[in-house]
Amino acid sequence: MFNLVLFGPPGSGKGTQSDKLVEKYKLVHLSTGNLLREEIAHHTPLGMEAKSFMDKGQLVPDEVVIGMVDNYFDKHKGARGFLFDGFPRTVAQARALDNLLDLKMTSISAVVALEVTEEELVKRLLNRGKTSGRSDDTNEEVIRKRYAVYLKETAPVSEHYKKVKKFESVKGEGTVEEIFNAVCKAIDKKLE
Ligand code: ADP
Repeated sequence: MFNLVLFGPPGSGKGTQSDKLVEKYKLVHLSTGNLLREEIAHHTPLGMEAKSFMDKGQLVPDEVVIGMVDNYFDKHKGARGFLFDGFPRTVAQARALDNLLDLKMTSISAVVALEVTEEELVKRLLNRGKTSGRSDDTNEEVIRKRYAVYLKETAPVSEHYKKVKKFESVKGEGTVEEIFNAVCKAIDKKLE
């Protein structure tokens, strides 16, 4: 299998690049943010629990997210590989993912991070909030909180993958095509 993690702060363009990457590398897209929003749209108990955290810009508890990922794996048994978008977001999630992939006799092939400055992120998210219908994108305080949570809880995940030399980062500012080319180059470097 070929398993890729697309890493980066909220608003760094992971969703946009994911659509192009799943097509090029024929991967199954696993976005925990999208899965959580689907749960909310269906008013499930999991969705209702998650919403209370998401609206405040906090992370949903690890066990909730990990359980959801495990279910998703069960539904996509024949996948050639996965593209993880917005997951893992904590070191505990990264460890759990290693274990889940171990059971499938596979592992993470590469992690590519998109680097974008905080001011650019806030600008992009407020702009997205005008049309996305996402309540967490309309309030600057919630956006800044998400960025603070990223620095504190998610950024350390990069160390987990640097230790095993799977981590690469690229500049997440420029045109969608320029960034896509840089991401593909970083992936190909790791696959050599
Ligand atoms: P963004 O990257 O723009 O913040 P996402 O759609 O990835 O958007 O996530 C939206 C929200 O969903 C996060 O702020 C968080 O509350 C929750 N969330 C998504 N993925 C995870 C995860 N892996 N662990 C914990 N919470 C998550």
